[in-house]
Amino acid sequence: MITSDFHLHTSASVDATVGLDELIERAIEIGLTEIAITEHVDYNPADEGAGIYKPKEIYQQIVGARGKYNGRIIICYGVELSEPHLYAAEMADIYQMPLDIVIGSLHYVGPYGVHLNFFDVYDFDSAIKAYFSDMLDMVRDGDFDVLGHLDYFARYASFRSLEDYNPEDYAEQIKRVLSTLIERKIALELNTSGWRAPANHCFPKPMIIKWYYEMGGRLISIGSDGHKVENIGRDINKAAELAKEIGFKEYQIYRQRKPVTLPL
Ligand SMILES: [Zn+2]
Ligand SMILES: [Zn+2]
Repeated sequence: MITSDFHLHTSASVDATVGLDELIERAIEIGLTEIAITEHVDYNPADEGAGIYKPKEIYQQIVGARGKYNGRIIICYGVELSEPHLYAAEMADIYQMPLDIVIGSLHYVGPYGVHLNFFDVYDFDSAIKAYFSDMLDMVRDGDFDVLGHLDYFARYASFRSLEDYNPEDYAEQIKRVLSTLIERKIALELNTSGWRAPANHCFPKPMIIKWYYEMGGRLISIGSDGHKVENIGRDINKAAELAKEIGFKEYQIYRQRKPVTLPL
């Protein structure tokens, strides 16, 4: 059984509703021993949270919480950077912070948010190709430790009742992303939020996690991506079981941006 959740948001992220104390108390209540607070950092001008992240303020809150909950839970300080390959200059001060984990996520393809209306901009097939093409640029050039929710466009496709995508149709692009992760020692995230959408699969789909394993990838991070109190820690052990079925024996948590390997 695992007791770490390394992808969590509080109301310091515009789309989350849970306060820091509430989040931590819930995490303790359900038996988590280590969590990472990974607020959104956005600089795409189209994002409602663009430029609002205040690193010093948030870090001070984490330090305060570490004191308050000392001995009950370990609280890691992280961020979820949107398109870090495009906004390295804007994010320079964030990289100066004593971060434990940096998640890199593709939330925008050009000016288009990977959201409900993403599939109005592009047709289904072009949308997915454009997404994986930008993701490859991000994993080649971005500075981050863990790739967040590799195929999370599937969430919005499923909310729109669009067809489910087949990773085989995009195997070449996806495998290039995976080999770049392995080369750069960036972990693949198993993000459990997909089980909470009609898509009903982990992000990424099990087939992709299997490819990553077969290609030699061994660094995985597990997170609920909880934005609400009831989703904290949700399905992390379902993800751990899935990883074990695929062949993984260990997973990673992060301290000071270095992986720490734990048994599954
Ligand atoms: Zn995200
Ligand atoms: Zn997130």
